[in-house]
Amino acid sequence: MPGYESRLQATSHIANRAAMPPKTPEPLENLWAVDVFNLAKMQASLPKAVFKSLRNTIQTGAELDPTVADVVAAAMKDWALKKGALYFSHVFYPLTGLSAEKHDGFIMPDSDGSAITEFTGSLLVKGEPDGSSFPNGGIRGTFEARGYTAWDVTSPAYIMNTDNGKTLCLPTVFISWTGEALDKKTPLLRSNAAMDKAARRVLGLLGETDIAPVNSSCGAEQEYFLVDTQFAISRPDLLLAGRTLFGRPPAKGQEFDDHYFGAIPERVQVFMQDVEEQLYRLSIPAKTRHNEVAPGQFEIAPYFEAANVAADHQQLLMTLLKSTAKRHGFTCLLHEKPFAGINGSGKHVNWSIGNKTQGNLLDPGKTPHDNAQFLLFCGAVIRGAHKYGPLLRAVIASAGNDHRLGANEAPPAILSVYLGSQLEDVYEQIRRGELTGSRAGGIMDIGLPTIPTFNKDAGDRNRTSPFAFTGNRFEFRAVGSNQSVAGPLIAMNTMLADSLNWIADGMEAEMAGGATLNEAILRVLKTVMDEHGNVVFGGDGYSAEWHRAAVEERGLMNIPTTADALPAFKDRDIVRLFETTGVLTPVELHSRFEVYAEQYIMAISVEAKLVISMAKTLILPAATRYLTELGAGAAGAAAMGLELGKETATRIATELAALMTSVGELEEAMAKTDFASDEEHLQHCAGTIRGLMDQARLHGDALEAEVADDLWPLPTYQEMLFIK
Ligand code: ADP
Ligand code: MG
Repeated sequence: MPGYESRLQATSHIANRAAMPPKTPEPLENLWAVDVFNLAKMQASLPKAVFKSLRNTIQTGAELDPTVADVVAAAMKDWALKKGALYFSHVFYPLTGLSAEKHDGFIMPDSDGSAITEFTGSLLVKGEPDGSSFPNGGIRGTFEARGYTAWDVTSPAYIMNTDNGKTLCLPTVFISWTGEALDKKTPLLRSNAAMDKAARRVLGLLGETDIAPVNSSCGAEQEYFLVDTQFAISRPDLLLAGRTLFGRPPAKGQEFDDHYFGAIPERVQVFMQDVEEQLYRLSIPAKTRHNEVAPGQFEIAPYFEAANVAADHQQLLMTLLKSTAKRHGFTCLLHEKPFAGINGSGKHVNWSIGNKTQGNLLDPGKTPHDNAQFLLFCGAVIRGAHKYGPLLRAVIASAGNDHRLGANEAPPAILSVYLGSQLEDVYEQIRRGELTGSRAGGIMDIGLPTIPTFNKDAGDRNRTSPFAFTGNRFEFRAVGSNQSVAGPLIAMNTMLADSLNWIADGMEAEMAGGATLNEAILRVLKTVMDEHGNVVFGGDGYSAEWHRAAVEERGLMNIPTTADALPAFKDRDIVRLFETTGVLTPVELHSRFEVYAEQYIMAISVEAKLVISMAKTLILPAATRYLTELGAGAAGAAAMGLELGKETATRIATELAALMTSVGELEEAMAKTDFASDEEHLQHCAGTIRGLMDQARLHGDALEAEVADDLWPLPTYQEMLFIK
């Protein structure tokens, strides 16, 4: 119910809000992982042989033996029933970026009218949701509209609690009957397998014989806004699009830097603790919480985990942030840019690879041997980020993230790699051929002894880089706050797999030609730097000079919008990348383009419709009412021989007319349907529609500055950002 009355009501409601009833904090042992059927619980409840077989599947990805599945299902059911769960659900991760679930009861009615519970290995392992309404980008014809879900054994089952019940949840892959991946988990698992295989090749060439499976890791820092729900429900734009489409910046924004790392407002801290308690129950290692830069903006960062598990946990975290906020009277906004003029929200995806035997492969380490290994793996990342830069840009493309990238608060839309001055210097030396493998005197052949130990000072950070090395991992800083981390992780693992295979090929060829291992390493790395070193950049990524030099001198691409970014999915090199690594078939990859393009178009069109309706039904009436009042006031004053309000009335009338012109043009632009291609449709949204929306907003916001506050129908930025 928009309107000034509702704004007043909201404010008084918030001022008089009763605090959440206090809760005695639970000790950690009563919380940690209590709702997860993890390895420890499996070990305690399964026969030894079954547990060993299952653990083997989890650690190596070997297929799950059906007889084992039956025993696991029985133990899992017992555990879940004891905890009070009556339903189970296969949870999957469709291309919408959200999580989806289908719930089934454990109960089976018996012929004598009683009920038994049933949960077999096959129900555990395979589900058949009617997935026909999930986006599939044309993969499935209606005759084969069904897909199936299959338990991802490497991601443990858990229990979701609601006020009235509990559900056993199984993270699953979602696949069509013809075997195509319809989700984000399947390619993530495949990308990890491809990376593992390629990494072992390189480790083998370095002389390693004991090589444990290599896994990718992910630690995601999540930014979000909290707005009191009393305000959010009065804003059609926040409700339906997750961001404000009109709204004037408040007199005070973030310029004082008084929010960043400031004391967390008490009501917010109570909310955060509630979230963290639920995360701990699910063994999601929440580790850091703080205020972010913008007023009303916060961050939560869990400790890193295996990428696949971290991706599932990240989805749960977003779900829990939203659902818990509701209970605290907040609306949690995960949109990348809910408010114009103040910082948006990102999700920094920290990523590394490693295994039990060699450790973190992106950790420089202390010995020359470790250095050689590190330089190869880091070199592989450099090559991948350059060769497949447009892919990295495409996987973070969304209508929301377009507002951040390149807007001088988030990383630019040009993909470059930050290494830190010391490491950059080492690679420059390699490029110039100054580091040579043939050093005399008792030094291990594999060593690169001139490389100093790396400085891992966290202060050596470049916040303007989209992709930064941070001591023992890369931080992909350009990911949007609302996005699944699976897409970026898939892209990073896959480009790395490709680069590691390329490195292994190169080293094998060098050594077959008589080069020593050390020479082979340095030659391959020199080629990486010769061909891809242009992507390494340590300067100010926000500067106009970089925007020019990156494109003109270095040949990097500035890809400003989703419309420009998504066609990368059709690029020949990228199709080949996914095909040769076995991560996505050309059909599967193409379906991603279709789905993401459609999502972008839908997001923009919802926003455009909202702009039109808000202008017509909220702003126009408020402004014309005020004009009437002004007119009456002016008439009264004129009777006394005074002139009053004329300039204001003129400004309002002018802005209002301009607003309605923009709205008319927007309606016309929205009516266009005859597009020659998806690309043309995307560009129409990114250019014409977005341009007209911005235009309308300018006039709407100008009106907000003129119209009497007690006639203004929408909660203001001041109210939404500062009243808690
Ligand atoms: P920042 O200074 O960027 O806020 P933090 O110390 O808070 O850095 O760490 C950010 C994230 O990086 C955390 O989630 C952390 O667990 C994660 N991280 C640390 N090491 C790794 C690693 N090897 N692989 C992936 N993520 C990691
Ligand atoms: Mg960070």
